[in-house]
Amino acid sequence: MRNTKSNILFTFKSDLSYAIELDQNDPLSKYRNEFHIPKDSKGNDLIYLCGNSLGLQPKATIKHVNQELEDWANYGVDGHTEGKTPWLPYHESLTECMAKIVGAKPIEVVLMNTLTANLHFMMVSFYQPTKKRYKILIESDAFPSDKYAVESHLRHHGYDDKEGVILWSPRPNEQLLNYEDLENILKEQGDEIALIMIGGVNYYTGQYFDLKRICSLGHQHGCAVGFDCAHGAGNVQLNLHDSGADFAVWCTYKYMNSGPGSIAGCFVHERHAEKKDLNRFTGWWGHNKETRFQMRDEFDQLAGAEGWQLSNPPILSMAAIKAPLIIFDETGIERLVEKSKKLTGYFEYLINELNNDSISIITPSNPDERGCQLSIQVKNANKNLHKNLTESGVISDWREPDVIRCAPVPLYNSYQDVYFMVERLKKILNE
Ligand SMILES: *Cc1c(COP(=O)(O)O)cnc(C)c1O
Repeated sequence: MRNTKSNILFTFKSDLSYAIELDQNDPLSKYRNEFHIPKDSKGNDLIYLCGNSLGLQPKATIKHVNQELEDWANYGVDGHTEGKTPWLPYHESLTECMAKIVGAKPIEVVLMNTLTANLHFMMVSFYQPTKKRYKILIESDAFPSDKYAVESHLRHHGYDDKEGVILWSPRPNEQLLNYEDLENILKEQGDEIALIMIGGVNYYTGQYFDLKRICSLGHQHGCAVGFDCAHGAGNVQLNLHDSGADFAVWCTYKYMNSGPGSIAGCFVHERHAEKKDLNRFTGWWGHNKETRFQMRDEFDQLAGAEGWQLSNPPILSMAAIKAPLIIFDETGIERLVEKSKKLTGYFEYLINELNNDSISIITPSNPDERGCQLSIQVKNANKNLHKNLTESGVISDWREPDVIRCAPVPLYNSYQDVYFMVERLKKILNE
C-alpha cells in the first residue's frame, strides 16, 4: 500500500534561506504568536513537535477560563443563566465550530466527557452483538485504550475477549494497513462482525485511513462502523458526515489545543438522530431541554448527538476549548491542511536527504494518507536517539517498540522548526 512517490506535490530545497523564505510566504505564520511556545532553560523556544500528544496553549485561553471563574465568583448558581455565556446552553456555543472542523452537521456533534468514556457510550449503542454476529474488528496496532475498551465490551456481553476480536494487520515486513486485506477479512468473516472500530489516523504510523471506503465496505457486510479520531480532529479533513460512519469520538487536547485531559468530542450520524430504539446509557443532560428541570419520571431523549449527554458539563474545560475553536474558525481546516501538506512534505524531504540507514519513515508518503505526523522508525530501537534529540531542544515522543513521532503542526510550527530539527538530528546521527 506504501506509495513510494515522495513529494508529489512540491519541490523543495535544503538550505536555511529556503526555510526562511517559506516562513515569510506562509499566510498562517502569524498564528504561531497566538500560542505559548515552551522554552528551554536559556529562554529559547523549544522545537515543539508534540502537538499530536498535547497541543500548545493559545494565549487567549486564560481569558476564557478566567471569565468563567469570574462568573462563578460573581453569580454563584445564577451563572447558569446570567453568566456571559450562560452555563446551561454553554456547549451549544461550541458545537457549530467543532462540527465544521470534523466535517459534520451540528446535530451530529457534541462535546462531552472524555475520549475513552465516549467510546464506551458509543459502543453501548452501536455494538449490538447477536449469537452469530458478535465480533469486533480493530486495527492490529490500535491505541491501547481503544483495544481495552473493545475487549471489555466483548466480556460485558459474555464473549471471549480474544476470540471476539478480529485484527486488521499489516502484511509481513510491512507497517501500513492494506485495504485489500480488509476486503478479504470482510469477505470471509463479515457476517460475524458486529462492529468495525478503527483509529481514523493511526496513532503509531500516522496512516490516515479512507474512512468512506471503510464505512462502505463495512456497511455492505452489515457491520456498524465507528472511528476514534483522536489523531484526526484538527489534523485532517475528516468529512465525518460524508464518510457515512455510524459514530466517531475524539479528544480535543491533541490537535485541538484545549489542554490536558480536556473535554472530548462525539459524532453520531444524522441517520441515527431520531432513533429512540437504539440502546444507550442515559443521563439528565440527554433529556429534552424544555422539560429537563421538571424532573420527570420518563426520559425524553434529545435528538442527535446531544441525546447521548449524561451530565451537566465541565464549564472550565469547555472554556478552554473556546480559544482554539475561534482560531480554527478563522483559519479554516482547509487552509491548515494545505499548509500541513507542505510543511510535512518539507520535513519528509529533509529527512530523506539525510539518506541515513539508521532511520526510516513509516508514515505513508502520499500526502492524502497522512496528517502532519511523521513516524520515524529507529534501527535497533536505539532510544538514545530520542534522548539526544530531546536534549538538543526538540520535543517529540518515543513510542514503543521503535518509533519517534514528530508532528509539525501547521498552526504554530514553522518551516524553520522543521529545518532546525533535521539539522540537530543530522548532527546526532553523525556523532
Ligand atoms: C490519545 C488517544 C487516546 C487517549 O484516550 P483518553 O480517554 O483521552 O485518555 C485514546 N485513543 C486514541 C486513538 C488516542 O490517540
